[in-house]
Amino acid sequence: MGKPTGFLEYPRETPPKRVVQERVRDFGEIELPFERALIVHQAARCMECGTPFCHDYTGCPLGNLIPDWNDAIYRGRLEDALELLHKTNNFPEFTGRVCPAPCESACVLGLIDDPVTIKVIEKDIIEEAFAKGLVEPVPPSRSTGNCIAVVGSGPCGLAAAQELRRLGHDVTVFERSDRIGGLLRYGIPDFKLDKGILERRLRLMQEEGVDFRPGVHVGVSISFESLKQGFDSVLLAIGAPKPRDLCIEGRGLRGVHFAMEYLTQQNKLLAGDVIPEDERIDAKDKVVVIIGGGDTGADCLGTAIRQGARHVYQLEILPEPPTRRAPFTPWPHWPYMLRKSDAHEEGGERLWSVQTKRLEGKDGRVQRLHASRVEWLQVEGARPVMREISGEEFHLEVDLVILAMGFLGPDDTIPEQAKLTKTPTNAIEADDNGMTSQDGVFVAGDAHRGASLVVWAIWEGRQAAKGLNRYLKGQAKGLKV
Ligand SMILES: Cc1cc2nc3c(=O)[nH]c(=O)nc-3n(C[C@H](O)[C@H](O)[C@H](O)COP(=O)(O)OP(=O)(O)OC[C@H]3O[C@@H](n4cnc5c(N)ncnc54)[C@H](O)[C@@H]3O)c2cc1C
Ligand code: SF4
Repeated sequence: MGKPTGFLEYPRETPPKRVVQERVRDFGEIELPFERALIVHQAARCMECGTPFCHDYTGCPLGNLIPDWNDAIYRGRLEDALELLHKTNNFPEFTGRVCPAPCESACVLGLIDDPVTIKVIEKDIIEEAFAKGLVEPVPPSRSTGNCIAVVGSGPCGLAAAQELRRLGHDVTVFERSDRIGGLLRYGIPDFKLDKGILERRLRLMQEEGVDFRPGVHVGVSISFESLKQGFDSVLLAIGAPKPRDLCIEGRGLRGVHFAMEYLTQQNKLLAGDVIPEDERIDAKDKVVVIIGGGDTGADCLGTAIRQGARHVYQLEILPEPPTRRAPFTPWPHWPYMLRKSDAHEEGGERLWSVQTKRLEGKDGRVQRLHASRVEWLQVEGARPVMREISGEEFHLEVDLVILAMGFLGPDDTIPEQAKLTKTPTNAIEADDNGMTSQDGVFVAGDAHRGASLVVWAIWEGRQAAKGLNRYLKGQAKGLKV
């Protein structure tokens, strides 16, 4: 514990953000750097409690050694803090930006005061370390001679690839998109994660010897079977990109798009790609309705505001959550409560308990959205039941509708070609080692756990790498390990 009385002396502080009027004019990151002295004070707030819930699995999924690196930062030992951080987290520069920080809602100080600013300290450690040239490639000291194919280059595939490469295996990452990064690249907007941060890590991984192959759609440009023949083992980190659709009248009208079509396009534009005018999904001067009140919807909101939308509605079918932690999610659990992302500070109108009924158009283009207010009835021992409130129908004049209603699991191509067993929730089934129903084929990340978080994807990638390494050891022949 750096300073026993730190939590009594220093209040919680968070880094400044760019002012709304300025930041909505570009796609640059919102958060500004923190002053060094303030970071040290924030680290001093850590109480190093007997049972640090922040770093067990009710807090950080990765088991980040939070009290230890807080102590190192307080004592000015950046290199130690970095080593501790990298022990459990391959990419703190991603989680330090986009993680919702379940660690902080499990922080013991949070019981009586504001929790420690763990996520900010995590970001500061890695950024300070990069700035001082302390983050270097870690190529393996020996080669096992095993060849592994990782399919999918999101945070899960990248974490697994880094772990496996550092164990001495030859790792090739196949990615169907034209660029590496999965949702870090084409889902999460630049105002949350600048793509230079991703590129910086990819360069290090290449220097470690990871071979990236973008533009290879496994199951389409190469069959799964022929890929498998060429490698000792395969890890599927193919995400859960199947979007939930809205099967209502008017769904086929022009101007109705899935969130990922919209966000991918904006990320491509920022990367310098040219999108033909007739394919552009542009919110400029439009009234936009985003259907879905979650994080993906919030990313669409921030994007639409930056594109110059006239007005943006975000509709959610569920009721508005309470502003404070709901009693059924007591500390240290992840609280059910109202969340506001940075985009919600920038504009937009959130409507709760609203069901979209049909879309109406003119000349094939969406023009009006018909909706109804709903109520949720509590049924003893069962899930709440939704009921439309009669007389509470309304409509919105609209130019663009974005569907952000969640994801339904991985694409079917590889699971069908490889005859993989699925779970009832459409995820790819795996044993405790991460292996699917096919010998030598592993799965991890959103494809395995369902649409989730970057921090869980990294954890899954690390676990699958361990399982895969154990499998290869069991298969060891000749020189192979
Ligand atoms: C818009 C959006 C915003 C989000 N924001 C956040 C956030 O702020 N914080 C957070 O923690 N989480 C966020 N998430 C969730 C997080 O991004 C995911 O949980 C995480 O990226 C999952 O990682 P993954 O590696 O399993 O899959 P993905 O990141 O989806 O990567 C899978 C990759 O596999 C590739 N692939 C699929 N099939 C094939 C194939 N057959 N051949 C070759 N390649 C293939 C895909 O193209 C993709 O690149 C967000 C999700 C979305 C959609
Ligand atoms: S990865 Fe997320 S949960 Fe873990 S310490 Fe960082 S911010 Fe907290």
